[in-house]
Amino acid sequence: MEQKPLVSVVCACYNEEQMLPLYYDAMKKQVLDNLDEYDFELIFINDGSKDRTLPILRELAAGDQRVKYLSFSRNFGKEAAMYAGMKHAKGEFACVMDCDLQDPPEMIGKMLQKLGEDDCDCVATRRVDRKGEPKLRSAFSRAFYRIINRISDTEFVDGARDFRMMRRCVVDAVLELGEYHRFSKGLFMWVGFDTRWLEYENVERAAGETKWSFWKLMAYAVEGIVSFSTVPLRIATILGSIVSALALVYMVIRVIIALIWGNPVAGYPSLLAITLCLGGFILLALGIIGEYVARTYMQVKNRPIYIQKETNIKD
Ligand code: UDP
Ligand code: MG
Repeated sequence: MEQKPLVSVVCACYNEEQMLPLYYDAMKKQVLDNLDEYDFELIFINDGSKDRTLPILRELAAGDQRVKYLSFSRNFGKEAAMYAGMKHAKGEFACVMDCDLQDPPEMIGKMLQKLGEDDCDCVATRRVDRKGEPKLRSAFSRAFYRIINRISDTEFVDGARDFRMMRRCVVDAVLELGEYHRFSKGLFMWVGFDTRWLEYENVERAAGETKWSFWKLMAYAVEGIVSFSTVPLRIATILGSIVSALALVYMVIRVIIALIWGNPVAGYPSLLAITLCLGGFILLALGIIGEYVARTYMQVKNRPIYIQKETNIKD
């Protein structure tokens, strides 16, 4: 019998005890038992969950040999989890998705079909709307995409999800990027390859709650910008140059005024204003430099992206 192509489905889980059984059932019904032309392996990464996620994964693995799991020693973040999952994926095709059913499992069939029909390397998904999302959050993410696309050479697609199906060559390329601070949305685009997009409407989380607070999302946005652009560093230089030039002009004017009319009472409010302004710019510039230095520092330490504690995956 001819061997079927293997598809690895990678799924990061953090405190998903409510979602896991629902996700597994949906996957079994719509994917595992439905798409006969393929073999599947489900790779779950337990990202240091504090609830019953790990015991549930053990149970699922005991009942279905297609279920693989790997558990981290603590929470390393979704990006690290996706990296670990892709590293252990053995399939000719690999798909990354969330286990909260916001990435509809029925799309997997469509993605595989498109991959074959279009003969492309990667089929990615994007949400066409942001239904059910707080207004402020939507506004900030739109602003983020506008800014990053202007200052980075890598293209960022608004509404793009991490949910995508890749051929082996793309997976290997992404794994080659061993950076500690991972911004996958950018990494997937940076590696290139022929990527096609499938669109779908936003689905709200079926159970449990989102792990992304507003501040976590802000930090994620800074991560994206700093990882994929050095333009902010230049802002510091430009700002510094403008302020220095203005200061020079101001000095010349003061000298001329003093020569013509003498030096009246020194204007201390303007002095204070200028000092505060300069102080602000300097701190801003230092902060921007700091963001980059911190990342360089973390990378130079060469720490592993994750630490594994338990797994049923045999290499
Ligand atoms: N996740 C993770 N580690 C984290 C946070 C989240 O592995 O530190 C997983 C989570 O279990 C889910 C996916 O990443 O499968 C997306 O998380 P969430 O649904 O909270 O994000 P949202 O869909 O709201 O962007
Ligand atoms: Mg979600």
